[in-house]
Amino acid sequence: MTVKPSASDSLRIEDVPDPVPAAHEMLVNGLAIGVCGTDREIAGGEYGYAPPGRDRLVLGHESLGRVQSAPADSGFNAGDLVVGVVRRPDPVPCGACARGEFDMCRNGRYTERGIKEIDGYGSEQWCVEIDYAVRVDPALEDVGMLMEPTTIVAKAWEQVRRVGERAYFEPQRVLVTGAGPIGLLAALLSVQQGFETHVLDRVTDGPKPGIVEALGATYHHDDIDAVAEKLQPDVVLEATGAGPVVFGAIAGTGSYGIVCLTGVSPAGRHLRIDAGAVNRELVLENDAVVGSVNANLRHYRQAADALARADRDWLARLITRRVPLQHAEQAFAAQRDDVKVVVTLDA
Ligand SMILES: [Zn+2]
Ligand SMILES: [Zn+2]
Repeated sequence: MTVKPSASDSLRIEDVPDPVPAAHEMLVNGLAIGVCGTDREIAGGEYGYAPPGRDRLVLGHESLGRVQSAPADSGFNAGDLVVGVVRRPDPVPCGACARGEFDMCRNGRYTERGIKEIDGYGSEQWCVEIDYAVRVDPALEDVGMLMEPTTIVAKAWEQVRRVGERAYFEPQRVLVTGAGPIGLLAALLSVQQGFETHVLDRVTDGPKPGIVEALGATYHHDDIDAVAEKLQPDVVLEATGAGPVVFGAIAGTGSYGIVCLTGVSPAGRHLRIDAGAVNRELVLENDAVVGSVNANLRHYRQAADALARADRDWLARLITRRVPLQHAEQAFAAQRDDVKVVVTLDA
């Protein structure tokens, strides 16, 4: 499943050379690949970088595969379910990358499989370095491609805890804005931590309200200002990237509130905000706003643990369409009621 970054509508299914594992790599049979907004942007020519010296990039970063062969003493065996990590540290490396925190890279020279300069996991076979493969619970064969988006929310939650721990912190009420895969997985981790969890989205029908309620969380579809005013959340996990929702969340937290932003907004949209009121809210309540992107190996382990503890039927409800590789283009055209769309690689 390849694309030519910067060219629109370049998605193509084509034969590429068989991957040959290096000494520190394993060979994996791809099972499925999740498709997200980043993939759609890359396929639309708005983002992405091909490997140096090449035109085309193998797409796909939300991986799931089964080990075909692994080096002896690697800790992995043929048949294991695995996910490949997306980001690799920059070559300098910066201080963060040198300490394994490549999700916090300072110089921007990191690479990412299926996104930035390294081929992704959207192929029937792929290789991955043993240090960048993460084992998935064998019971998660149908849903393990949710691991990578779960790492994003595992990191976001870790950021929230660390920001909260700058003083007394005992959050009770959490508002998640956006009921796409990231928002729903953020709500899962919120419920797993024992918090009273609320999820806000625009839709009033389709699968999202039921998925939220099945989690034991409360679904809202009113205006962010009204919902936040009523709830006074201790933590907001923002997953829409929509300007009015972002600023509504920042203005609407309870005292010592934390807003974690995970959604990427398009540039160029203007919103009138009362900057003084936002500043007053942040200062007078000791509030904090933190952005969070990507994930390191620690977050992959946290995500693997969260998914292993989750209800598998609930996880399966997030995957609303499965498209075989030869029809992968269908996964890139958004449909009403989509939550997570997956391309299957093992036809
Ligand atoms: Zn993604
Ligand atoms: Zn770095």
